[in-house]
Amino acid sequence: MKPLSYWLDTAPAFGCAETGSLPARCETAVVGGGFTGLSAALAMAREGIDVVVLEAGRVAGAASGRNGGHCNNGLVRQVATVAGAFGLDRARTFYQTFDQAVETVERVTLREGIDCDFRRSGKIQLAAKPSHFDSLIRTHGLLASGIDLQTSLVGPGDLSGEIGSTRFHGGLVYHQSAMLHPGRLGSGLARAAHRHGARIWENTEVTRWRRLGKGGHELETAMGTLEAGNVLVATGAGTGPAFPHLHRRILAVGSFIIATEPLAQHVVDAIMPTRRTAVTTRHIGNYFRMAPDNRLIFGGRARFARSDPGSDMKSGRILARSLKQIFPILGDVRVDYCWGGMLDMTMDRLPRAGVIEGCHHAMGYSGHGVQMAVHMGEVMAKVMAGDVEANPWRDLAWPALPGHATRAALLPLAGAWFRLRDFVS
Ligand SMILES: Cc1cc2nc3c(=O)[nH]c(=O)nc-3n(C[C@H](O)[C@H](O)[C@H](O)COP(=O)(O)OP(=O)(O)OC[C@H]3O[C@@H](n4cnc5c(N)ncnc54)[C@H](O)[C@@H]3O)c2cc1C
Repeated sequence: MKPLSYWLDTAPAFGCAETGSLPARCETAVVGGGFTGLSAALAMAREGIDVVVLEAGRVAGAASGRNGGHCNNGLVRQVATVAGAFGLDRARTFYQTFDQAVETVERVTLREGIDCDFRRSGKIQLAAKPSHFDSLIRTHGLLASGIDLQTSLVGPGDLSGEIGSTRFHGGLVYHQSAMLHPGRLGSGLARAAHRHGARIWENTEVTRWRRLGKGGHELETAMGTLEAGNVLVATGAGTGPAFPHLHRRILAVGSFIIATEPLAQHVVDAIMPTRRTAVTTRHIGNYFRMAPDNRLIFGGRARFARSDPGSDMKSGRILARSLKQIFPILGDVRVDYCWGGMLDMTMDRLPRAGVIEGCHHAMGYSGHGVQMAVHMGEVMAKVMAGDVEANPWRDLAWPALPGHATRAALLPLAGAWFRLRDFVS
């Protein structure tokens, strides 16, 4: 079993990173070379802005190259819950921003010729309990009232046409959802940004940020100090003490994935005949899909822990057991890859973007970042050019979290809470 992301292992390397010291100054610096930072750099470079990307590791090497490749529409939480908190009109706007985000990925990849296997596969949400199907019926009713007319229910009796497992009690299909190869998307975005004039440094961590009195910013790295007129912080779950105002706000939670060996065609037809992205309704549930070479990519929270090599392997073993419970036909299947990554979360699972202490940011996609990070990169390029209204998340409060230093230690407690909620639901 390879302890690395299948997507990063099967994507072409970026290969165009700058070498040598940083320039003394640039118009805009983007900190973080994941989907948010790369998409922003691409949009800015296309407008002729002198943009420099500073990435601590390799481009798209963190969450952007380690996710499930689900490019889904729909909110992370139930639309009724979001409507309860923000009102129906805003819930509709938030929901439809995810529709637009899937369109953004489709448009950008087509325009830039990025071959990342983007496909409008649709997503199926699978009811893990009979009571969860009742909830899906209510969600479908609300969506059909004018939020999303492209969803359909699959009753328990018809589910075998969608999924070869007896574990589920019905489903809800979101037809606008898509899937893609995130490793190819990451290197494709980086190459496109570079082609349009963005300069990208890899292995260049920003260790200190300082706001300059005259209005600009100073960024310290081992490759030199850069002065920038504007800064976009696109550091996701990796946001650290160099940006204390964001570090205090973002939550980082581990998520883990395994990839099987390539499966025979008749096995794929038996387990996922419609080849959609699939998510289960539990709080500690699973998400899965087929890769283009017929591997099953199977993920989940598995454990409430940070991602590191030991933790990824432990989680991989838990995921392999869940996979075989859901699909007994895969009893003898070999697991070829196992990896983990850190999710950028917020308490209400809605993204946050805007400007704090003169520094722009976009993050907090809470497990729905493949489409939203690409979208928000473009949006933040507009916001930084003066179109503040382009940002759909601009009015959301984002208070600092108490006790952020002890957050990692509290992860197992959060896990116990969500397990209890799954048990009683
Ligand atoms: C296991 C897993 C599965 C997921 N599955 C899905 C899915 O199927 N669908 C979906 O929509 N979303 C999914 N997500 C979420 C999604 O991948 C992320 O929300 C999205 O990729 C975030 O992109 P980003 O560019 O904002 O952040 P990242 O991809 O995390 O990029 C941030 C970058 O900033 C760099 N950085 C951090 N600090 C510094 C610094 N000080 N200086 C320089 N660089 C720095 C990091 O090295 C990193 O490369 C998943 C996430 C994980 C971890």
